[in-house]
Amino acid sequence: MKDIVIAGAGIGGLTAALALRQQDFNVRVIEQAEYLSEIGAGLQLSPNAMHVMQALGISQPLCAVAFRPKAAQMRHYQSAKLYFSVPLAEACISRYGAQYVHIHRADLQRVLWQACQQAGVSFHFSESVIGYHHADSGVHIHLASGQSWQADCLIGADGIKSKVHSAMLGEQQARFTGQVAWRGTVPSQCLPTGLVSENANLWVGPGRHFVSYYVRSGEAVNFVAVEERSDWQTESWSQLGDVQELRRAFAGWHPAVSDILAATQQCYLWALHDRAPLSRWTDGHVALLGDACHPMLPFLAQGAAMAMEDAYVLAAMLKQFTDIKQALLQYQQRRLPRTSTIQTQALKNAALYHMQNPLQRTKLDILAGLSACGLSDQIAVRKLDYIYNYNVVDRS
Ligand SMILES: Cc1cc2nc3c(=O)[nH]c(=O)nc-3n(C[C@H](O)[C@H](O)[C@H](O)COP(=O)(O)OP(=O)(O)OC[C@H]3O[C@@H](n4cnc5c(N)ncnc54)[C@H](O)[C@@H]3O)c2cc1C
Repeated sequence: MKDIVIAGAGIGGLTAALALRQQDFNVRVIEQAEYLSEIGAGLQLSPNAMHVMQALGISQPLCAVAFRPKAAQMRHYQSAKLYFSVPLAEACISRYGAQYVHIHRADLQRVLWQACQQAGVSFHFSESVIGYHHADSGVHIHLASGQSWQADCLIGADGIKSKVHSAMLGEQQARFTGQVAWRGTVPSQCLPTGLVSENANLWVGPGRHFVSYYVRSGEAVNFVAVEERSDWQTESWSQLGDVQELRRAFAGWHPAVSDILAATQQCYLWALHDRAPLSRWTDGHVALLGDACHPMLPFLAQGAAMAMEDAYVLAAMLKQFTDIKQALLQYQQRRLPRTSTIQTQALKNAALYHMQNPLQRTKLDILAGLSACGLSDQIAVRKLDYIYNYNVVDRS
C-alpha cells in the first residue's frame, strides 16, 4: 500500500486525506497546530465543492450543520438598490445537481476530521514540515523536530505560507493585495428579526464591500467586511481586529450592515494575499494543493472549493496511475488551467465591487437597470456557470 504524507490539516489537507484513504492509500497528516481549534468564520460552498463532499459521503453531516441560502444578491451599500439576484436553493440542484451551502469553517473541519479518523488516517499534531529531498523511490520529509520521514509521496497542503512550496520553488512571498478582510459571527438572536435576508448578501460601496449570511442552521450570522487598506499585512486565521475601527470603516452603510456591526463583540482581521498563477506545482513525488499553490482573493468564494476539487483529482490520479510522478503531473495538468482562471477572475471582481473607476460604476448602473426585468440575474448566472457547473467527480 502506498504511503502518502500530507502537510497541513486545513480544508484542502483533510479533504485530500479522506479522498486518498478511501482509495486505500496509507495516509499520515502532519499539522503544525496543537489541535484543530474553533478559528475562522463562514465559508460558502458552491455546487462544484458539494459534488466532492457528496462523493466522499459527507454531504449529509455537513448539511446538518450548514445553512441553505435562497439566493445570492448584490446591492448598493446605502440605498439597497438591487444589482442582481441569483436563485440558489432549488435552482442549484436543478441546474448543477448539487446544493449551495453556508457553513462555519470549524464545522466543516470537524466533519472532515471525524470522517478521516473513521477511515483510518493518522494525525501528527504540533509538528511542521520544513523541507524535503528526493529519495531513490520516494521522498524524505524534514520535520521541525529534527526527524526525517520517508514516504512514497508528499502533498503540501500547508496554506498560503507553505514550506513545501518554498522547498519546491524557492522563497516567494505571496503578494499583499492592498485589501484586508474583517471576519466575524454574531448570534442571530442578537439581531432584529428579518434584518438579515436568508441569502448570500453582498453590499458594494466605494473601496469596500460587505458579505453576510447565516451559518450553523441559522443560529449565527457570518460576515466578511473587505476594505482597501495598505497599513495591515498580517495574514492569520486567529489575528483579532478592533471592532470600533471596523464600525468606523463601515459607518453610514445600510442598517443591514451597520446593525450587524453594532452587535459584533469580536472580529478577526486578515490581510488578503494572492499569487500570480504558477506554471508548475509538482516536483517528482511531491505536489502542492489548495492555497499552497493557488491562493486567491475570496471575491468568488472559491478558495476552499478549489482545494476540495484538487483533493479529489489528486486521489483519482494516484489511483489511476501507478507511477507517482506521472500521476502528479496528470493532477497538475487537470487542475492548473481551471484554478488559474478563477484566481484571475477573483482579482477582477475587486474592481467591480469597489466601484474603483467610472467604467465599473457604469457597469453597476447598467446591472441595476437590467435587474428590474431579471436580465442582470441571467447575466450573473451565466457568469458563474463555468465555476458551478463543473463536476470534478464525473470528470476524474
Ligand atoms: C475572508 C475570506 C473569506 C473566504 N471565503 C471563502 C468562501 O466563502 N468559500 C471558499 O471556498 N473559500 C473561501 N475562502 C478561502 C479559503 O478559506 C481558503 O482557500 C482555504 O481555507 C484554503 O485551504 P487550505 O487547506 O489550502 O489552507 P489552510 O486552510 O490555510 O490550511 C493550511 C493548514 O496547514 C497548516 N500548516 C501550515 N504550515 C504547515 C507546516 N509547515 N507543516 C504542517 N502544517 C502546516 C496550518 O496550520 C493549516 O491548518 C476565504 C478566505 C478568506 C481569507
